Amino acid sequence: MRLSQILIQTLREDPAGAEIPSHRLLTRAGFIVKTAAGIYTYSPMMWRVIKKFAQIVREELDREGANEVMLPIIQPKELWQASGRWDRYVTDGIMFTLKDRKGSDMCLGPTHEEVMTDFLSSQVNSYKQMPVNCYQIQSKFRDEIRPRFGLMRGREFIMMDAYSYDADKKALDVAYQKMRDAYCRIFERCGVDYTVVQADSGAIGGAGSEEFMVIADSGEDAILFCRESGYAANVEKASSRLPEAPEGGEVAAMEKISTPGVKTVAQLEAFFPDWQAGRMAKTILYKAALAEEEKIVAVMIRGDLEVNEVKLVNALDARALELASDEDILKATGAEVGFAGPVGLSEEITLLADKSLKGRTNLLCGCNETEFHCLNVNLGRDTRMPEFHDLRTARAGEGDPKTGAPLEEARGIEVGHIFKLGTKYSEAMAATFMGQSGKPIPFVMGCYGIGVSRTPAAAVEQHHDDKGIVWPIAIAPFECVVAFLDKKRAEQIELAEKLYGELQEAGVEACLDDRPMSPGAKFKDHELMGMPVQVFVGRRAGEGIVELLVRKGMEKIECSVDDVRAKVLAALGR
Ligand code: ATP
Ligand code: MG
Repeated sequence: MRLSQILIQTLREDPAGAEIPSHRLLTRAGFIVKTAAGIYTYSPMMWRVIKKFAQIVREELDREGANEVMLPIIQPKELWQASGRWDRYVTDGIMFTLKDRKGSDMCLGPTHEEVMTDFLSSQVNSYKQMPVNCYQIQSKFRDEIRPRFGLMRGREFIMMDAYSYDADKKALDVAYQKMRDAYCRIFERCGVDYTVVQADSGAIGGAGSEEFMVIADSGEDAILFCRESGYAANVEKASSRLPEAPEGGEVAAMEKISTPGVKTVAQLEAFFPDWQAGRMAKTILYKAALAEEEKIVAVMIRGDLEVNEVKLVNALDARALELASDEDILKATGAEVGFAGPVGLSEEITLLADKSLKGRTNLLCGCNETEFHCLNVNLGRDTRMPEFHDLRTARAGEGDPKTGAPLEEARGIEVGHIFKLGTKYSEAMAATFMGQSGKPIPFVMGCYGIGVSRTPAAAVEQHHDDKGIVWPIAIAPFECVVAFLDKKRAEQIELAEKLYGELQEAGVEACLDDRPMSPGAKFKDHELMGMPVQVFVGRRAGEGIVELLVRKGMEKIECSVDDVRAKVLAALGR
């Protein structure tokens, strides 16, 4: 391709409001143009990048026998009612909904479990037709609360979503493993450094779910990992060995103590020098939206630990959760903020506790009376017995749950997610096949997503420098650019044309920069756009000498015309 024929518009200045490198650089390089909040137009160069990444995805999924299809973007409400998700998605506000001219409710697909399951069950009637795995690469629509970071969190974005249908759980395990292997090859090939982490599988249960994370400081997810054991998990899901805390000792009588103005764990530690945070039980009140009602829930946890709200949502099977307001707390406990506790707590409030409190004696707790706390509280004796769950946030420095070796924390960008769904959707939607016994059986499903627009942005997060993008070769818009520097010199133009032709013949995906621009502007553009290998035909063209620049590391060498082909191939790792 000739760059004079491609729409390229780089910017001199950093765009306003771009907080992270990929957003800044993709905008400056003219690869993306904002149309509205979280909605972007991909320029010709960016579209080349996306198509190359999508091609890698296709090749690796096809190798595992998956079928590419294209499902409708507009979906009818009825399908979402059948799965039971319509109300929830509408209340969450994540779904773009619309009405057709007849007044029927529709939505723009945020995901496609319903449509795919509806399609599959019309096609597959017998266990003999399985395993089946279908995928598509298509735009998704989610009215995200905080669209930001350019392509990272869009409201319209491109996703590969795949769905596997199997006759039983064992076959699902096989399908899942194949997708996991394909994902590893995909992210390997596109040149990003990634980690597979255990992920929260939500209210659906522990069937298994893993996320593919690109490690980058700008990542929105926190992950915990252990170098020794290889354990890695999203903080939402992670567990760790319980940090030690001082024992409470022999059960003693409860005492109520006046603690004016003492509300936080730190203030309590100062007030009661003998009682470290590990001997306290703090009680946090939440407002939880449950299936039937909104409820105030009290959650107890050791004073030195923190509640993990994702685990709490799962334990409650809640739709949503927020910290109770000061007003709610006063109404529910009769005390001001800072004095809530299990002692004398109204029966109407659900009481949960983290497992860190199980079996512990003589705790320091709030007692729902402003300006008072109780010492030597024993759960079950002085209070109702709470329901115990794992509700704790694991932290860096704590031990791997199995080996105890230290956990470290890193930030990650979720580029892929694989999920054993089981029969949640097929049961709800009565999607069945004839089993060997001749009875209808619900499909056992898996679902698998890749952020097709997010992954190239994640690659930029890992591969850039102060001059611009440094594309991994596999997803660069072109592998190599050949540019003449002086448009008035016929010998430069001729030589550049010749090298461009030769490189193409050698199988290099090359482009010719034939734009009528100054040499400095061309250098800057290619630095910014991150072309992996750059050949500049300049002043010494007459002597058969050109300059070859490898973008990664910015190494520049003079090179004889006869060596260009070999040197470019070597720089591309061929
Ligand atoms: P997140 O936790 O980042 O909101 P998710 O878990 O809701 O993502 P999935 O439903 O698992 O997302 O979607 C599959 C993949 O699609 C994700 O792994 C991610 O790479 C990509 N993706 C999800 N939401 C967005 C978005 N708003 N913009 C760009 N890519 C996205
Ligand atoms: Mg996900």
